[in-house]
Amino acid sequence: MMEELYQEIILDHYRRPRNKGKAEPSDISAHDSNPLCGDEIDVTAKLVDDKIAELKFDGKGCAICTASASIMTQKLVGKTLPEATQFIDGFLNMMRGAVPFGGKEMGDLKALEGVLKFPVRVKCATLAWNTAQQGIQERATKKS
Ligand code: ZN
Repeated sequence: MMEELYQEIILDHYRRPRNKGKAEPSDISAHDSNPLCGDEIDVTAKLVDDKIAELKFDGKGCAICTASASIMTQKLVGKTLPEATQFIDGFLNMMRGAVPFGGKEMGDLKALEGVLKFPVRVKCATLAWNTAQQGIQERATKKS
């Protein structure tokens, strides 16, 4: 039952991805790919008052990759960069099989935990998150 619900969440985000496109002009921009599956992703973000005001993803990916990116954009909007980094770390830890972080904040992300049963697909689920983190780090290096 739960598995079906999670499947539905993933398919819904895959069919109707949220925040697809490019944030322009962007303060953060990063690209990464997952050659194992053929996923390609661009993550762009616009900052206002040090918070992520707009976060978008573009590219082509499988259902898991696209759904994960779509959910990520919804989770990270409104966060400061340190908050976003912390959230990303929490998600990546979950995808390494560690204890899930803050249950309430997880929401739709719970759907992606099922991917852990398919180790080959974990990279699909984490691609957008790693790309976002890369972009945030690059931005931090540029600033200092
Ligand atoms: Zn994939």
